[in-house]
Amino acid sequence: MSARDFRDVVAAKRDGGTLSPDEVEGFVLAYTRDEVHDDLASAFLMACFIRGLDQAETLALTRAMVDSGRTIPLDGISRPTVDKHSTGGVADGLTLVFAPLAAALGFAVAKLSGRGLGHTGGTLDKLESIPGLRTDLPVDRLERQAEEIGCVIAAQTDDLVPADGKFYALRDATATVPSIPLIASSVMSKKLAVGADLVLLDVKSGSGAFMKTFKDAALLAEACAALARDWGRACRVAVTDMSQPLGSAVGNALDIVETVEVLRGEDRGRLREAALLFAQEAQVRLLGRGADEASARAEAAIDGGAALDYFRRLVEAQGGDPRVVDDPGEVLPSAPVLRPIVAPSAGYLRGVDAEAIGRASADLGAGRRHKGDPVDHAVGIVFRPKVGDRVADRQELGTVHARDEDAADAAVRRVLGALAWSDEPVPAVPLVHGWFG
Ligand code: URA
Repeated sequence: MSARDFRDVVAAKRDGGTLSPDEVEGFVLAYTRDEVHDDLASAFLMACFIRGLDQAETLALTRAMVDSGRTIPLDGISRPTVDKHSTGGVADGLTLVFAPLAAALGFAVAKLSGRGLGHTGGTLDKLESIPGLRTDLPVDRLERQAEEIGCVIAAQTDDLVPADGKFYALRDATATVPSIPLIASSVMSKKLAVGADLVLLDVKSGSGAFMKTFKDAALLAEACAALARDWGRACRVAVTDMSQPLGSAVGNALDIVETVEVLRGEDRGRLREAALLFAQEAQVRLLGRGADEASARAEAAIDGGAALDYFRRLVEAQGGDPRVVDDPGEVLPSAPVLRPIVAPSAGYLRGVDAEAIGRASADLGAGRRHKGDPVDHAVGIVFRPKVGDRVADRQELGTVHARDEDAADAAVRRVLGALAWSDEPVPAVPLVHGWFG
């Protein structure tokens, strides 16, 4: 396609036309090769944002994204392979629990993860708070570890779906991120480029999520499930609650402590519940087990210590200090100032602005403002109550872990400001709002 043709493609979409797969793929691949200028690509994105993309166009966009780089077929792995992805949330350490749990159940999980940005945390940042642990693994090492240990969590390499990295940066700069087909193709291209037998997607919905309402989250879930279906890949999508933090740790090392507590069977909260649900779904879909049997096996894998053992092996294989599973407090970095978060009065927790808590933790240093910024692994927030819980006057709700007194005080104020209370009982919020695919 010539430069003139690329302008015609943009004009056709601007005017509400439907693009052919060749036009979509030609445009995307040319932009990835720097043959289309940012100006024209920005106009393309805005036209797609405003006019929308139908299913065939979205599939073509996804295919072009996948074709823009290398793929990781995972075909040398003898166990059934599962991939898991979340659209991003607060206190969302699900990958860290799910990967070793799935390995303990006989699956292989080769998970490519990202770093935290804005108010959401990133699995790589959390894992790298374990001294010595490496996430920059070459692909052959990734596949070997998945085969030998059953779980590996590594950084996505630049040669996997490079078009997405380029387009995402442009979307960010041109206010074209929140478009369902653009998000769906961005998310799914990264999953489809890796050849797992089953993709489990966790689309978050609520105050701490990208999608603030169930309606939008369900549209995104349906769009992702439709792409997987048309691609021929098994995929199940859960829309889960992010109207409050999923677990209780909002930081990096703090999340590893929570991971270990869940894998030891000590923490039986929502993070465990989510991991059990995803592990159940994988067994039902890939092994043909009944839901009750699958659930019982997943519980036994945690409570019997097998999942913790797989986490230890993952940490050790990736160069981290395996003593973290025995004594996380000894091994992980810790913050110098700890400040309790105390309930201002008795009442029922009615709401939590999860995004505000995520931002407060990021501002303590646990997150990053710009891509590439360093993170402080030691700091963050632990906040335990869930919507519907009754708390007593002056009850300790959690702890701020900070570098200095001022930062600690500011974070406590922000956490308290993010909470809504009621004198009347409030129903708990279900973890899963619906399954798609
Ligand atoms: N996450 C992604 O990977 N892509 C998007 O476009 C939005 C969230």
